[in-house]
Amino acid sequence: MFFGGHPFGGGMPGGMPGGSGRAPSSDVDTTKLYETLGVDKNADKKEIRKAYMKLSRTHHPDKGGDAHKFKEISAAYEILSDEEKRAQYDKYGLDGVSGDDVGATGGEDLFSMFFGGGGRSRRSAGPRKGPSVNHPMKVSLEDLYNGKTVKLAVNRKIIQGTPVECTKCKGQGAIMEIRQMGPGMITQMQRTCDQCGGQGQQCTFKSERKVLEVHVEKGMREGDKITFSGMSDEVPKMEPGDINFIIQEKEHELFKRKGADLLAVKTVSLNQALCGFTWKVKHLDGRTLVIKSRPGEVIKPEMNTKEALPFVKVVPDEGMPSKGNPFVRGNMYVMFRVEFPNDNELPKEVVAELRKLLPEPDVPENYNPDEVEEVHLSPADLRSFGKGGASHSSNEAHDEDEEGGGQQVQCQQS
Ligand SMILES: [Zn+2]
Repeated sequence: MFFGGHPFGGGMPGGMPGGSGRAPSSDVDTTKLYETLGVDKNADKKEIRKAYMKLSRTHHPDKGGDAHKFKEISAAYEILSDEEKRAQYDKYGLDGVSGDDVGATGGEDLFSMFFGGGGRSRRSAGPRKGPSVNHPMKVSLEDLYNGKTVKLAVNRKIIQGTPVECTKCKGQGAIMEIRQMGPGMITQMQRTCDQCGGQGQQCTFKSERKVLEVHVEKGMREGDKITFSGMSDEVPKMEPGDINFIIQEKEHELFKRKGADLLAVKTVSLNQALCGFTWKVKHLDGRTLVIKSRPGEVIKPEMNTKEALPFVKVVPDEGMPSKGNPFVRGNMYVMFRVEFPNDNELPKEVVAELRKLLPEPDVPENYNPDEVEEVHLSPADLRSFGKGGASHSSNEAHDEDEEGGGQQVQCQQS
């Protein structure tokens, strides 16, 4: 079962939600939400909806109603209108409706709404659900493009027979230990029961091998979660947690991905940049695209912008399919690098020809060599820009030099 489009919230892969479950308290409130909507506990969907519509009309803040009351009504409706959440609530109260499941309202708000804030933290309330397990799953970009079903075998512990109350802790999950520390000194310590591991219940487990069909949807992204609800190990008195597969996108040799867009880097020669090129690209679905420049199209070393951005062009709609709507695709960006010939690689005759052929040739400057200085260029690195001249004796320069050139520092101090 899938929670399509569920945002990847909270826990990172590999992590387990903290805190093993606690025994359910007997006095769980499972009526409050019904009272809020003013319906009977056995009310059907229609009645619940009708009650909600009526209440929300009278209590809507736009119509002068109380905003808090309205939120309470909405939250109650959100849970009771959802069969699964309602069943959880009926069994375990608000504890059973985990924060994740309470979509728009958010778990935290919901709890403070019904318990007047403060004193009841979400963490300590905890849904009565066993720990979930996250499995990272590496998926190639091709598989994320085309979609794929992978069969994966998992081993899970399932309870054999009926769990019985732990004899050692009598179902408490913890044992009180009284110790005499010295004459007249007694301490009382509570520790987790070692016989049942704090569950208060004892049972025998057997291992079950289960093959899961993991369906990787077209367009899924890094961090997307594929959930198998209740497929984790069984735990007495609790619902089994979920098994989540977390998508990890494998690096692709040609494409980088951002959202639904793809980016490929293409190096062209100066000749190709000026005179045209064709480039055969194997797409992620196996098609071969031939990217072909139009007559007269020029590929430049960078964009004509102030920031000197890399030169990119785009093949529209050849990016990744969108998750949930695979027919809407992103774009394929091509970032160009123009490779110029090296020094002395162009024969004199070629240069002479090019000078004639290419637009805007050099117009010799008019000057008297005795009155000016002719200089030449040497190779350079922009990272050295600003480091020329004799070292400066200000304090900042001082600090910078301290590690590398101790001697220099001494000179400056003397
Ligand atoms: Zn025990």
